[in-house]
Amino acid sequence: MYRSNNHAPLVLVADDDRLIRVLVRKSLEAEGFRVEEAADGHEVISAFYMLQPDLIFLDVIMPGQDGFCICKQIRSMDSGDAVPIVMMTGLDDHESVKKAYEAGATDFITKPLNLALIGHRAQYVIRSSRALENLKQSEARLVDAQSIANLGSWEFDLVSGEIYCSREVYNIFGIEPGNSRITHEVFMDAVHPQEKDAVAERMRKALMEDSNFTIECRIMTQHGRERSILTKARINRDETAKATWVVGFIQDITERKEVEEKIKQLAYYDTLTGLPNRILFQDNFSHAISFAKRTKTQIGILFVDLDRFKQINDTLGHAVGDKVLQEVAERLNAGVRKYDYVTREPVEGIDAEIARFAGDEFIIMLKNVRDHFDAAKVAQRIQDSLAMPYTIDGTEIIVTPSIGISLYPVDGERLEDLIKFADIAMYHAKELGRNNFQFYSRSLDSTAKDHLILEGQLRNAVKRNELFVVYQPIMQIPSFEISGIEALVRWRHPEHGVLSASHFVPMAEETGLITEIDEWVLHTVCRQIKAWQDRFDRTLEVSVNVSGRNFKKRTLVETVVKTLQNTKIEPERLKLEITEGVLINNDEYVVSALNSLKGMGIRLALDDFGTGYSSLGYLRKFPLDILKIDKTFVRDILVDHDCTSIITAIIALARSLKLDIIAEGVETKDQMELLLQKGCEKQQGNYFSPPLSLADLEEFLQHGITDTEDPAPGKNHSHTGPAAPV
Ligand code: C2E
Ligand code: MG
Ligand code: MG
Repeated sequence: MYRSNNHAPLVLVADDDRLIRVLVRKSLEAEGFRVEEAADGHEVISAFYMLQPDLIFLDVIMPGQDGFCICKQIRSMDSGDAVPIVMMTGLDDHESVKKAYEAGATDFITKPLNLALIGHRAQYVIRSSRALENLKQSEARLVDAQSIANLGSWEFDLVSGEIYCSREVYNIFGIEPGNSRITHEVFMDAVHPQEKDAVAERMRKALMEDSNFTIECRIMTQHGRERSILTKARINRDETAKATWVVGFIQDITERKEVEEKIKQLAYYDTLTGLPNRILFQDNFSHAISFAKRTKTQIGILFVDLDRFKQINDTLGHAVGDKVLQEVAERLNAGVRKYDYVTREPVEGIDAEIARFAGDEFIIMLKNVRDHFDAAKVAQRIQDSLAMPYTIDGTEIIVTPSIGISLYPVDGERLEDLIKFADIAMYHAKELGRNNFQFYSRSLDSTAKDHLILEGQLRNAVKRNELFVVYQPIMQIPSFEISGIEALVRWRHPEHGVLSASHFVPMAEETGLITEIDEWVLHTVCRQIKAWQDRFDRTLEVSVNVSGRNFKKRTLVETVVKTLQNTKIEPERLKLEITEGVLINNDEYVVSALNSLKGMGIRLALDDFGTGYSSLGYLRKFPLDILKIDKTFVRDILVDHDCTSIITAIIALARSLKLDIIAEGVETKDQMELLLQKGCEKQQGNYFSPPLSLADLEEFLQHGITDTEDPAPGKNHSHTGPAAPV
């Protein structure tokens, strides 16, 4: 019961029957309600408008507008949907009850009225409508809160497959709730392709064994936007522990992620150049160490400092200095990242980390370093690339780097030590006149440098005419006639004297210089063949070694054709020696190149046979004429039974494939005889003659081997002096 005062609920009693109004009023007032009356539709509307009652008792039958119309009208008014309206209908008037609800009534009572209960009825209706109102409000608040927090709630009935999602979930996925429903498939479809598998696996696992789970992933909304979401859920299980029901929330955490990313960027990267900073670098170094341990490789730390950078800042201003640093960072990236130590050529995929530590100091970490040469190569490349002029705002600026290098694990195991040592080495580089690089350990310095210097010199050797060709005869046994000649390249080095091919050909292959060298040798030899043809009136076959690099560059056939044309020799005079590596790389070009060479009439020899992968199967595929047994087998033929068997097998193989066979590196009479006995009649080696200079070869050609008993070089030329081995 209400205590009747201004706060007591106000009930509007609307009936055209005055007596009923009075009776109802009395009953309600007795329960403490305040009561107002209305006699027709007009009065009801204006009383509702003026008084905003807490409850309306509304008679169905009234003059003018009936109760249904009035009810509808109130419901359409401002705040008219909240007020409870109880309609008074005739007993058993089912039609009216139905119509009352359709018009928006909250409840109904029947006439004749039970006045004793009407107060209780009023109380009940008001209470429940207030409860409903509160519920509505708190729901609205929840929706507001969810939308402010970008947080939606969902429930997943695993038994029926039904998913209930709050409005905000739809917002997060960019789906209009009216248009489609969120289902498990819709959710999984939205998950970012790169994360789908992981998310599905995480959910599957959680449903099997967890009581709750948290998933953070990226989704693509229906509008095609990428968002980051976080969902946390609790799994309910039935008595058999089967998951039946999952309740959770989902939150759009895109902004948080972006902020985190920004913070990470600020924390781990240098803002000017975008390069990692010291902290991230340290982190990467730890990973690099485990890699180095696993692969037994080294790590190179390069400390790069720009020479006289302060001057640029002071004279041209910081803005220009900043641009130089940005350009340096770019050049470092370009110069370092794509470097393959194996071919010593730039390629994709090799790992190097660059960081800016301070001002004009950059640190580079090279992973997968085999030796100091690798580090030296990169240092050289960086030096060359950074020393190129910089054009900043139209002004050309020269900045050179001084680089110090330390190596893990030889110089130290901790990053700080390695950086310190690289720093010391860098100062040493500055002392030595800047724009150079130095290793922390000086002894390594000279070896690595020697190699680089030699490489630089080799580049000029062709131009400076320092290369020449020597010729080693290939003998026909037992007649000791000259069956052919192999041309071998030599380098007359300004300081080191004559270097044989094995001293610089590998380096020339690494650097790619070999194609130029091979071209030169081919040309020189072809010219020589022509000269011999004219002079000796005798057909000599000369073999020239060609590197696999020529096949990679796909220039070989063209070069050979051009050279034959220029020197006017017959292709039959020329043999080309290739190694197994060329065939292993069995690509289309190799097959077609060999076929066209063969088609021209050039003979093809497979050099160093037995040392490579020796898959005999491939021999058939290529148009070869000759197999050359590698000198390592010949060397051991008398002492190592395996070698003898290998040679026997090679000879048998050559026969079955109808290939000619040449043994190289024959040094003794016994080797010669055994080889002959096995059926190898063509032999080459110091026993007959070392590679000879042109003059000595010509001498050899004229006089041949006179003493067939022991045709060792020292003896057969006794009348002209020994042929000088070259
Ligand atoms: P190769 O084609 O197998 O040449 C034979 C090598 O054995 C030559 O070494 C030769 O001097 C050496 N030799 C000759 N007789 C004997 C002997 O009785 N005992 C021993 N132990 N060695 C002997 P060289 O001239 O140092 O050449 C090494 C390799 O370099 C050659 O092996 C060849 O693969 C390559 N090469 C030589 N000249 C050229 C060239 O012009 N172009 C290319 N691409 N490679 C070349
Ligand atoms: Mg050869
Ligand atoms: Mg060989």
